[in-house]
Amino acid sequence: MPNFTTLKPPTSGTPISRKNGQLVVPADPIIPFIEGDGTGPDIWRASARVFDAAVSQAFGGKRRLAWFEVLAGEKAKNMTGEWLPIDTVEAVRAYKVAIKGPLTTPVGGGIRSLNVTMRQVLDLFACIRPVRYFDGTPAPVTHPERMDVVIFRENTEDVYAGIEFARGTPQAERLIEFLAKEMGKRIAPDSGIGIKPMSETGTKRLVRMAIQYALANNRKTVTIVHKGNIMKFTEGAFRDWGYEIAKAEFRDQIVTEEEVGQGAPREGKLLINDRIADSVFQQILTRTSDYDVFATPNLNGDYLSDACAAQVGGLGMAPGANVGDEIAFFEATHGTAPKYADQDVINPSSVVLSGVMMLNYLGWKEAGALIEQGLAKTISQKKVTYDLARQMTGATELKTSEFADAIIGNM
Ligand code: NAP
Repeated sequence: MPNFTTLKPPTSGTPISRKNGQLVVPADPIIPFIEGDGTGPDIWRASARVFDAAVSQAFGGKRRLAWFEVLAGEKAKNMTGEWLPIDTVEAVRAYKVAIKGPLTTPVGGGIRSLNVTMRQVLDLFACIRPVRYFDGTPAPVTHPERMDVVIFRENTEDVYAGIEFARGTPQAERLIEFLAKEMGKRIAPDSGIGIKPMSETGTKRLVRMAIQYALANNRKTVTIVHKGNIMKFTEGAFRDWGYEIAKAEFRDQIVTEEEVGQGAPREGKLLINDRIADSVFQQILTRTSDYDVFATPNLNGDYLSDACAAQVGGLGMAPGANVGDEIAFFEATHGTAPKYADQDVINPSSVVLSGVMMLNYLGWKEAGALIEQGLAKTISQKKVTYDLARQMTGATELKTSEFADAIIGNM
């Protein structure tokens, strides 16, 4: 374990490790957590009580989570002078599974988003967002219950790689000149320029993870989303590399839509198909139940995750995780909602459901199921926080802490 400068790991609890690539989870795993800024502390207090109650109930006290607070964001800045202390990064790296509330993104001063920094330094190459409907949640569509998807979004490449040059800078001018002289491609001289790299390695490890997840969880389809009709060598290659890895590594377990069209049987196989991004945004509305697991490049996945979450009324409730081969970091997908800080009113469901993902990742599915059941029942009883209450008739508006109590009571 690292020698921390300021952090003190808990005196009891056992680190999670890996053996031959497999996660080894003790009965008392040490889990680093970042409570988050703004409403983060209210959300964390409520969520941790829900996690502890579920684990205790599911395993009769034989397992427990050993929480280890690590610092990031405003709390870290106030206590250590740094937004993201190296101790925090090393703790997540060492203990392998961590969870966080929302963090303030420092504005200006050349400081990068803490979330983006952590994804890059820990190589968390997949952003995973499950989207399902909880009965009774106010939603803008007629059949929100038809949505049950898991989106695997590539997290490190594409136009998010951060290779950008402002209009009129020497770098932009040089690139424009290079493209004109060496490549015969004209770009308007007053352009800003961004580069969109998408690699075979980056694509294949993402699609592999999506297929492994689909197979392990009895999902029916993995849909590769791309805009390859226009961007052939990036998005189009993403599709081709996706099919390549599906056939090379999972041949006996998968069948492609093209093969089914040629008469191959679909039964008992995971279907791999692909859709152009704009058509996915139509079809997720018009043929919602056709879709299951998505594998997408970074930008399309960013849009698709929020569009799907909005469709079930759950933008404030959507959970997420950033996952690599070694480390998994579970997180709220909303921001810090600072105007509600310390009022005990905010909806903690995004962190609560991210915790469900974490428990499932640890293999503690019984505890995850208890939380989902408790949350579903609480919402169906119309006992909700302000954000849902204001859209429902006959709802009982609960504080954050009371909502956690209700979930625990309904497990
Ligand atoms: P935000 O914090 O997500 O809040 C925007 C609005 O969304 C809130 O005012 C509230 O709407 C609603 N909302 C968000 N979370 C909610 C919850 N848990 N329960 C109920 N309602 C919720 O977005 P922002 O104001 O644009 O960003 C604030 C800060 O968060 C910024 O520093 C930003 O950089 C950061 N941020 C962090 C993350 C992250 O850490 N993952 C993600 C996004 C943004 P009403 O006012 O209508 O009630």
